[in-house]
Amino acid sequence: MFQKFFPNFASESKQKPMLVKEMYEQVGFNYLGKANHSAKMAKSGKYNELVYSVYLASSDASGYNVCPMANVFCKNACLNYAGYGRYNNIQQSRIKKTRLFFENRELFMKILFHEIEKYRKKAIKEQKRFSVRFNATSDINLKQLKLNGVNVLEQFPGVQFYDYTKVYKYLFLANEYSNLDMTFSYSGENWDECQSALDNGFRVSAIFQEQLPDYFRGYPVIDGDSYDMRYLDPNNVIVGLRVKNVPKQQLEQFDENPFFVPLSHPDRLDALSVS
Ligand code: SF4
Repeated sequence: MFQKFFPNFASESKQKPMLVKEMYEQVGFNYLGKANHSAKMAKSGKYNELVYSVYLASSDASGYNVCPMANVFCKNACLNYAGYGRYNNIQQSRIKKTRLFFENRELFMKILFHEIEKYRKKAIKEQKRFSVRFNATSDINLKQLKLNGVNVLEQFPGVQFYDYTKVYKYLFLANEYSNLDMTFSYSGENWDECQSALDNGFRVSAIFQEQLPDYFRGYPVIDGDSYDMRYLDPNNVIVGLRVKNVPKQQLEQFDENPFFVPLSHPDRLDALSVS
């Protein structure tokens, strides 16, 4: 059945193609990603949309680095450690999935393509929109998600993909693929790149400590928390996100962490955000 959807999988030598069940048995987890399965993604349901996403072990937590531009500020405050990510078994599962990506890319990709197709069909059946945000807690170039020479954006040309990134050059994949939308992420230290992203017509996300301001550095701020499907947003805006579920020690270090824009210290906004 798997090969019915992805005939190119069947061409992998003359050996018997692997069944879906066997793939999961081999990797030791039940799913790579899911649709609307975190609090953040569950909001998509209110918009009649399924968003499939994958949570990997962020930065170098697995021994492999999936966030080339992570800095000490975002690493410590990453969404990877929020919500279910507080639990050790969840972290172990994310580490296992991340290691699979580096150690058996082909199998990782087969599972990824299978799951995207599964949720795409589910969305059709339930008469919902469908989109994919691969990098929920990572920053991997989507062109690397490739099987038999075909990347994920090419494999599913009718599916809307969107992502956030701190890697400036990844933004421009959105100019190459019409089914991809990219948002640049403010790290607390990369304002110059944020400015270039805005100058090139992209939007920039920033995390604010308290309520959202109307403007940040002269750009209008929109509320980015009501849903995650950034591709529905206008360009040339700041997508304002509020701090969520940050571990206690991070809350205590708010003032020292420029990743969180401190509204209570407006005089420090510029000083903190210039790299
Ligand atoms: S780059 Fe993003 S996903 Fe990676 S550690 Fe920083 S906040 Fe987390």
